[in-house]
Parts: sequence; C-alpha cells; structure tokens
Amino acid sequence: MTSTPAPIRHNWTVAEAQTLLQLPFNDLIFQAQQAHRAHFDPNEVQVSTLLSIKTGACPEDCKYCPQSGHYNTGLEKEKLLAVQQVLAEAQRAKASGATRFCMGAAWKNPPAKDMPYLIEMIKGVRALGLESCMTLGMLSAEQAYELAEAGLDYYNHNLDTSPEFYGNIITTRTYADRLDTLAHVRAAGMNVCSGGIVGLGESARDRAAMLVQLANMPAHPESVPINMLVKVAGTPLAEADDVDGIDFVRTIAAAKIMMPASNIRLSAGREQMSDELQALAFLAGANSIFLGDKLLTTANPGVNRDRELFARLGINRQHNWDDDTFSPQRCPVKAFYDREQHNEQYYDAMAGSN
Ligand code: SF4
Repeated sequence: MTSTPAPIRHNWTVAEAQTLLQLPFNDLIFQAQQAHRAHFDPNEVQVSTLLSIKTGACPEDCKYCPQSGHYNTGLEKEKLLAVQQVLAEAQRAKASGATRFCMGAAWKNPPAKDMPYLIEMIKGVRALGLESCMTLGMLSAEQAYELAEAGLDYYNHNLDTSPEFYGNIITTRTYADRLDTLAHVRAAGMNVCSGGIVGLGESARDRAAMLVQLANMPAHPESVPINMLVKVAGTPLAEADDVDGIDFVRTIAAAKIMMPASNIRLSAGREQMSDELQALAFLAGANSIFLGDKLLTTANPGVNRDRELFARLGINRQHNWDDDTFSPQRCPVKAFYDREQHNEQYYDAMAGSN
C-alpha cells in the first residue's frame, strides 16, 4: 500500500461517473491504480470457484442468459444437486486449495422446500473450514436471515445495468426487486457481491448510472463483478455488438475509483479477451477472477492460460506455482488446474448471473 487511501464516498452523481469514463485513458488508469494501491496489493488477484447446484429452466427472462427458460439454447437442465454431492465437491475444492466455495442456482428465488437443503449445504461447507457464497436469485428478508444464520458469508445478486436501461434486458423482475434483495442481504449481515454487464447495448451513461447505483449504497458491495457479455446462440443478445475493450477497461477503472476498497471482479467474457486486454483490466484495478476452463455454455480461459498470464504479469508471485514444492493452500491456480483434470462441474456462474 503506497498511496493515501482514497476517500470512500456514497454521493456520486451520474455526471461525475460519466466524467470519469471520459477521462484521457492514461489519466483514468493512473487514478484507478492510485485508488487500488491504497487498499490492495497491486500484484494480488483473488481466485474464485463456483459450482452450479441447479442449472437452467429459470423463469426469469434476462436477455443475455442461457439459463433462462424463455430461450432455447440447448442447455442441459439439472435439478438441485444432493447435499452430499455438493459437499463432496466442496471437499475436493478445499483439498485443491480453495478457501471459498460458491454455489449458484438458476431460480427466481429459492423455493421454500429447498431452503433446508441450502442450509445444510452452507453448514456443511462451513464445517469444512471454507467460506461460503451463494447466488440463488431474489431473497425475502426472512430468507436472507435464514441463510445468514446458517453461516452464509457472501451473497451474489447483480444489478446488471442502469435503472433506465434495465427494462430492455429483464421484464420479469424489477430493479427495485434487486435493490430490495441486496438490502435484505446487507441487513442480514452477509457480504454483498453485486455488479453488472457491459455489452448489453447500453450507453456510456447507463454504465455510469449503474456504477452510481452500486457506489451510493450505504455500504459498497465487498465484491463488484464487471462482466463482458458472453453472446450465447439462442438468447436475444446473441448478435449484440461487440464491446470495445478500451471502454470495458474504462468501466473497471471507474468502478475502482468509485469503490476503492471493493474487490473488482473481472468476470464473464475473459475467454474472448486477449491477454493484453486482461492485463489492462488488472492495471485498472480488477483483482479477482473466476478460474476454470468450463463455462456453463461457453469457454473460460484454460487454467494453463491463466497460469501463464499470471506468471508473465508477476501476479500472485508469492504463490510459487512453478515451484514443485508448492503448497496447495497458497497456490490456487495450480491447485485448480490439478482439480480440473477430473472435475467438470465448475463453471462461471456469471455467465448466467442472478
Ligand atoms: S441471469 Fe439469473 S435470474 Fe436471469 S435468467 Fe439467468 S439464472 Fe435466471
């Protein structure tokens, strides 16, 4: 930490966020690096893993999502996995060096009949000594407390885009519904994971307005995933225009400046990014990725590619993943690589974020 911590603000205006997004690129990246270095080791990137515990047939109509039951994407659906199956995967993740286990389900909201199983999963994951994380759709205040009481550490629920553009993307739940769920998660005492997607056809103003929604929450989300749209055949956004990589990096940099103490997660869409674009994203303050070469319906960069990129960039160098005597607990990339050899269930839940 070499910079003075940037002030944590909760009173951003859309105009201010737009001004950030329009700064000369070098000035924007410099500001973002200063903000990032004030709160984080600039050469550390957190590695997350996710398990799909219930796949597809979602009643929501998110236009980007292959898991929506409204679109025919050829996705193979799966019912809720058995608790023991989930815990076996969690055990394997722990043995591979993971410290947090994330579970994603494609629901509008968790059905009451499944809550006892979810609670058993959380307790089981915690009993293994792992942090727990879930993304299950909307939560009532009561459900949020139930999950928190069971020990759930993190809950993911993305805003996706600006309030103004939102209706172009989702019609089956409102923006207010999403904000309500995030408020319930926060009130229940859990860590909040919430971000959005770039490439839905939104304007730069929409990106600014989304960041303002996140940054003006009473407490910033601890984790802010910034996704690049993964265009999936069969979804209404399959033919969406490509995102300009520089504009994508600008969104990450503005998120870092506006929420300097939050982890900005370089999330879905990495497969279509060059190594150089990912490096720019890390330079802009992204410090978290999902690892694994299997997305739900699309590919994520192979673990080898991530390993090589991290090595070339000097990221997580102290993990010594090229050292044969490595410790799995200190080497998430290598440990994940080993696990991937025999595990096909991990995917990037952000490809169908809740
Ligand atoms: S993004 Fe989440 S809520 Fe929307 S359709 Fe996909 S799984 Fe359902």
